[in-house]
Amino acid sequence: MDKVFLIFLIVIQLFCVYSYTTINRYNNRECTLNPGLVEEIASYRNIAKRIMYEILNNTMGESMYNEYTYFIDKFGARPSGTHVLEKAIDHMFNLTIRHGLKTVSTEDVQVPHWTRGYETAMMIRPRIKPITILGLGPTVNTSNEGITAEVIVIRSFEELNKIDENIIKGKIVVFDAHYSSYGETVAYRVNGASKASEKGAVASLIRSVTPFSLYTPHTGSQRYGENVTKIPTAAITHEDADLMRRFQDQGLSIVLNISMFSTFDLKISRNTLVDLVGREDPNKLVIVSGHIDSWDVGQGAMDDGGGMFISWYVPVVLNKLKLKPRRTLRAILWTSEEPGLVGAIAYLKKHKHELSDINFIMESDEGTFKPLGLDVAGSDNARCIVAEVLKLFTPIDKMKVSKSVGSDITIFNNEGIPGASLLNQNDRYFWYHHSNADTMDVQNKENVVECAAFWAALSYIISDLSIDIPRI
Ligand SMILES: [Zn+2]
Repeated sequence: MDKVFLIFLIVIQLFCVYSYTTINRYNNRECTLNPGLVEEIASYRNIAKRIMYEILNNTMGESMYNEYTYFIDKFGARPSGTHVLEKAIDHMFNLTIRHGLKTVSTEDVQVPHWTRGYETAMMIRPRIKPITILGLGPTVNTSNEGITAEVIVIRSFEELNKIDENIIKGKIVVFDAHYSSYGETVAYRVNGASKASEKGAVASLIRSVTPFSLYTPHTGSQRYGENVTKIPTAAITHEDADLMRRFQDQGLSIVLNISMFSTFDLKISRNTLVDLVGREDPNKLVIVSGHIDSWDVGQGAMDDGGGMFISWYVPVVLNKLKLKPRRTLRAILWTSEEPGLVGAIAYLKKHKHELSDINFIMESDEGTFKPLGLDVAGSDNARCIVAEVLKLFTPIDKMKVSKSVGSDITIFNNEGIPGASLLNQNDRYFWYHHSNADTMDVQNKENVVECAAFWAALSYIISDLSIDIPRI
């Protein structure tokens, strides 16, 4: 091949690769930032390096990880409304003070308290087989003798809509929806019981919302629609959903007996606020957050012990490093996220009059595996500034753009507040999510410490910049 042509091809290829990464990072839009601001952001390179170094290479990150492990081992699962969650909140409050940061406070929130009692299921036809079930909170109970009924296995809501009511009436609907993405498949967990009930079903079971199963059921919250007869609902394993599907395909009648009992009441819990008061604009806030509650199964190590801990650590470690940003940096440990963002909604309501003071809001609730960058919600201008800041953290500089991000902070994004959630190598997140497998064994010390270092350095820069992150 002609040498000049070969060089031409290489140049074109390089250009393509360069264009791709540029497009990728800037979401197909050119950013024109003020050169002064670009220079200012670049000037944070050394401070970012220093914060990362102190956490990664000195003993700071390791001792944070030890405190995190101790917390998970000591308290385990921390369901909304329980005594153990309140003890865990007290622990974090006292730990903050022990680390020398006295600006910690709590705000009361009324939260749901759903307690799982007994749950059993037995296949009676075509053969006797125990079926593992995990109730979806807050499900209603069966009668004492349980529900014995025939099963109909249904793949999707579309399929349910097409089936005559007389066929569904009196049956247990098993939603065998295969995992596509969490966002799509979770609809069966949240609305499955109501949709099945509208067609006259007496109970509904869902194939657990996970891409992978070792006979593990995964719980989560569900919602009964208005004016719908509330029917008991639970998750089953992939293995049992597949078995029932095969029996149905063979034309066999499947009969289950399901017995479930749980209780529900309301309790008072608390959001925890840890402030590193700003040196110039103390009324302006950059919030960094995670939720302290968890489901009752597993240990809530991944969801969201890791995210909560690295967020709590941000003001604590910056205070130790004597780094006071321009604005106040507030870590929030949300309570009662799992039943439906209860703590975050209460905070939003209570602080409605000062939402304009929130400059940027961050959350880590999708795992603390190897950090990759950020999922950003906000205007083009906000996104361009965050993209420029991320350049300081290469290779942790990937940027995804969404309309709203995270879980708790979506309601703040919807108010027009820009924000970001931690993008990490969480391909296996939903393997463990809301199941007994969410334990410290999921976590990797090196990765959690990397997340903590990135999270602290990034939060510092965002809260210290000379300009606010623009809303428009
Ligand atoms: Zn979570």
